[in-house]
Amino acid sequence: MLGFVLRSRPASCFISLSAFFGLFVFWAGATSSCSKPPNPQIGDWIGERDFIFISVDTLRADHLPFYGYRRQTAGDLEEPFSLAWLASRSQLFEQCWAPVGKTLPSLASFWTGLFPLEHGAIANTTPMQKSSLAQKFQDMGYHNLALLANRTLEEGMGLEQGFHSYGIAAKEKESFLGEHLLKAAKPIIADGEPLMLWAHWMSPHQPYSPPEPQALAFTAQAEPAADNDLLYSFHRNPSLLTFQDKKHCIGLYDAEILTAAQRIQVFLAGLDQSYRLASRGGLLENAVVVFFSDHGEELGDRHGYFLHAKSLYSSVLRVPLLIATSGLEPSRNPDPVALQRVLPWLVHGDSLQQKSFPGSWQTEYYSWRKDNWTLIHNPSGNPDGPLEPPVDAKYPYPKVALFDRTSDPNELIDVSKQHPEVVREMMAELHAWFGDLKILEAIFLPGTDPQARREELAALGYLDEVPDTLIPPWKPENWNP
Ligand SMILES: [Zn+2]
Repeated sequence: MLGFVLRSRPASCFISLSAFFGLFVFWAGATSSCSKPPNPQIGDWIGERDFIFISVDTLRADHLPFYGYRRQTAGDLEEPFSLAWLASRSQLFEQCWAPVGKTLPSLASFWTGLFPLEHGAIANTTPMQKSSLAQKFQDMGYHNLALLANRTLEEGMGLEQGFHSYGIAAKEKESFLGEHLLKAAKPIIADGEPLMLWAHWMSPHQPYSPPEPQALAFTAQAEPAADNDLLYSFHRNPSLLTFQDKKHCIGLYDAEILTAAQRIQVFLAGLDQSYRLASRGGLLENAVVVFFSDHGEELGDRHGYFLHAKSLYSSVLRVPLLIATSGLEPSRNPDPVALQRVLPWLVHGDSLQQKSFPGSWQTEYYSWRKDNWTLIHNPSGNPDGPLEPPVDAKYPYPKVALFDRTSDPNELIDVSKQHPEVVREMMAELHAWFGDLKILEAIFLPGTDPQARREELAALGYLDEVPDTLIPPWKPENWNP
C-alpha cells in the first residue's frame, strides 16, 4: 500500500453527450492543426494541446542553475527531460512573483487568478472560496488529474475543484507520485482524450532530509538532517547559526531540489514515452508543460530564519516559471509577471503585463515591487512578525523599508531615507490597490473544528491564525521620512 489513492469523481461531472460530439469536432480539428505555431499571447493552446502543470513546493528560483545558481541542482542539460534540459527548451520568466510565502494561499492564487485576500485562502486552514480555472479545462472536455504531495491541500480546501481525480500524498511517499500519476494518465493519452494534469512535489520543503545518494551531492555529510528542531533553533537564536551550519543546511536544501528534479525527469520522460507508444509523437508536440513553484525559501538570510511563511522578501516570493511546448521559441523573458496571472493568460488570453507586484501576509505585512524597487510595509508596527512557526521567535518587519534590487538582490540594505519620493509613490500605489481589493472574509472548512485543524497542521510544522481585524496599509500622506 503506497499510502495514497487517486479519488475518481463520478462520470456525470465529465461531459454530456452533446458536449462529447462538440469535443470530437474540436479535438479532431485540434490534432490536424498541431503544426500551427501556437501564439502564447492569446491563449491559443487551450483546446489545442494537453496541459501538464508541474509545481515544486518551496523552490527558490535563484537556487536553479538556469536562474544563475552555481550548483547543478536541475540535472544534466544533455539529458532529455531533466529540468535543465526543459529550461533550455522553454520560455523562461526571469521574474515571476508569488503573492505570499504559503502553500494553499499561493496555489489557490495560481488556480483562481486572484490575490489571497480575494479568494479567501489566506491561511492553510481557510479554504479557497472562488472558482478554479481547472473547471474551465473540464468544461472544454479535458480529463483533469491531480496528485499533490502536500497534506495541507486536502480535498475540501478548494483546489480539488474541476479535477476528475484529486489525490494527496505525504512528503515521505512522494517518490511514488510520478509512478501513480503516469498510471492514471496512460489510458487517457492512449485514447487521445484531452488531458490536464497537475503534479506537485514536496521536496525541497523542510525537513531537508534528502534520500541517498542525492544527500551527499552538495555537502560532505548528510547528518544532522535539517529538521524543524534544528531550523527553528537558528531562528530562535540567530547567533547559533555558524557559516558551517548554513553551508550544511543549504547543501541539504539543494540536494532536495536535485531529488525533486530527478523525480520530475523520470515522470516527464514517462509521459513522453506514453505519447510515443500511442503513436502521437512526443510530450512537447502534444502538451504545454508549465513548471513553477508556490514560493521559495529563506536560507538564514535574516533573523536566522529558514522556511518561508513569515517572509515577503525575494528569496521567498521570486519563483521559477518555465513554459515549454513544441513551436514556442525558447527564450528568456525579462518582464516581471505575477504567478496568479499565468493561468488567466493561458486559459483566457488575458494580458500578463503588469507594472507592480503586491505581496502580503494576511493584511498585516506587505511587500510591493515595481521596476528595481521593493517596498516593505508593516502598518501596525507589530514587532513580532507573522504568527507562523516557530511563533516564539520574532521576525520583525520595518514599518517602511525600501530596497534597490539592482544593487541589493537579497533586499538587505534599506534605502528609504535616500529615496522618499519612491516610497511615497509606491505607498500610494499600495494603498490604492488595497482600496480596490474585494476582500473575502476567510472561513474555516464547514464541519471541521478549527482548533483540531490547527493542531493537526502544527504537527506538520504549520500554524495558522486568522485575524479578527484587517490592517490596511497607510495612506501615502501618513508616510514621513
Ligand atoms: Zn509551499
